[in-house]
Amino acid sequence: MAKRTKIKELLNSSAFGSEVIVKGWVRTFRNNQFIAINDGSTINNIQAVVDYTNTDEALLKRLTTGAAVSITGELIESLGKGQKVEVKVKQLEILGDSDAEKFPLQPKKHSLEFLREIAHLRFRTNTFNAVFKVRHALAFAVHQFFNERGFVYLHTPIITASDAEGAGEMFRVTSLDFDNPPRTEEGHVDFKQDFFGKSTNLTVSGQLEGELAAMALGEIYTFGPTFRAENSNTTRHLAEFWMIEPEVAFADLNDNMQLAEDLLKYVIAYALKTCPDELEFLKTRLLEEEKQKPQDERAELDLLAKLNFCLDNNFERLTYTEAIEILKNSNPNKKKKFKYLIESWGADLQSEHERYLVEKHFKKPVILTDYPKDIKAFYMRQNDDGKTVRAMDILFPGIGEIVGGSQREERLDLLEKRMNEMHIPTEDLYWYLDTRRFGSAPHAGFGLGFERLVLFVTGMTNIRDVIPFPRAPKTAEF
Ligand code: ATP
Ligand code: MN
Repeated sequence: MAKRTKIKELLNSSAFGSEVIVKGWVRTFRNNQFIAINDGSTINNIQAVVDYTNTDEALLKRLTTGAAVSITGELIESLGKGQKVEVKVKQLEILGDSDAEKFPLQPKKHSLEFLREIAHLRFRTNTFNAVFKVRHALAFAVHQFFNERGFVYLHTPIITASDAEGAGEMFRVTSLDFDNPPRTEEGHVDFKQDFFGKSTNLTVSGQLEGELAAMALGEIYTFGPTFRAENSNTTRHLAEFWMIEPEVAFADLNDNMQLAEDLLKYVIAYALKTCPDELEFLKTRLLEEEKQKPQDERAELDLLAKLNFCLDNNFERLTYTEAIEILKNSNPNKKKKFKYLIESWGADLQSEHERYLVEKHFKKPVILTDYPKDIKAFYMRQNDDGKTVRAMDILFPGIGEIVGGSQREERLDLLEKRMNEMHIPTEDLYWYLDTRRFGSAPHAGFGLGFERLVLFVTGMTNIRDVIPFPRAPKTAEF
């Protein structure tokens, strides 16, 4: 196949007079002569100029939005505004027609809600081109960060028989006949006859398996899909999302917080460096979106300023107990503006509280530590006060919780006691407890929700717009 040059390369070229081949999809065709073409290599289009007096009229009619074309022509300096180069068409071939009457994307602004309904085609818009480029850059940067520090990328299972959080909300995996499953004598479904000989589900976290490896390899991370059947129809929850979970031996909560802060800053800096066009475009998109809002609800900083601000400032660190005091005395609490009022120590923080702390009180990312043990998972290290655990959540502006982590309870007796209190079967998790039986050591880790990170960096507002094929309640198209 004749070799094409990518549009990204052509736009930066000054090899005027040379013959080039451009392949891409038509975005617009104006004045019967200007074709704007995009091939995905950049969010910017290249303009091809066709001499309509010497081109078959039937061919010109096929230059519709969405059509795939191959153009051979001369790279010339552009006289028009807004572009440096353009292509003077010598030969035009339509690779695939796109019926203008039926193609749902028109050269105008579509709402994100509408595009969500045609998510199979939304890749062809500038917004989603930019979002998925940034998503890629962030994923790549995550691997680069850990690789540079000597972490091992560990693939934890997707199908598991354990519930890492002890919180339920799992998707079951079975090959039993749904209409007529085998039954035990007591009438329960007999999972002994299921594929794995036991009841299994899709993983909600790779942490427990990650700990097993960290207690030998030293420093590991996972980066894979996780699944939660939580019926929360919010702009921050998906049923299938990607999580990054490092686990580090011989680390305490301070090391853990520092690792998370370093990781976040590293990947944000990487996106700023490698995706300037995309982030500039997304900044403008967000400014447009914010114009719909009343003045006092608009963000103080634009997208790029917000990202740079995040790099330039240390995250604020305080305990849950200190945060509760701030929230109790806050204006929205006194004036009963919070949906869930903070009355006493022990309350779980809702997203409205997290966002108050980050956006109104501290105006920067916040790390909360030492939460009440009753609102946290069984494996978190217990503090001497008997009430709190060595947990940390990182809260981000516009997002709320982006990271959840802890120092792990490495003392077998205390861990077993806590599991019993929380009705977590110690026999089923014998393999997890073995790490505490044989050479136990302090260790810590966290989970970073990848889509929440992409939300933050792209300035998008709905988590369904930062994953190519969102899975949410009643949403599993494509
Ligand atoms: P939230 O309170 O926001 O539901 P969580 O406490 O359930 O979060 P963890 O179990 O600690 O979250 O998971 C670790 C990280 O995974 C979170 O900090 C968040 O970034 C991300 N996360 C959790 N649930 C979801 C979800 N349903 N969709 C997308 N990301 C999620
Ligand atoms: Mn949750």
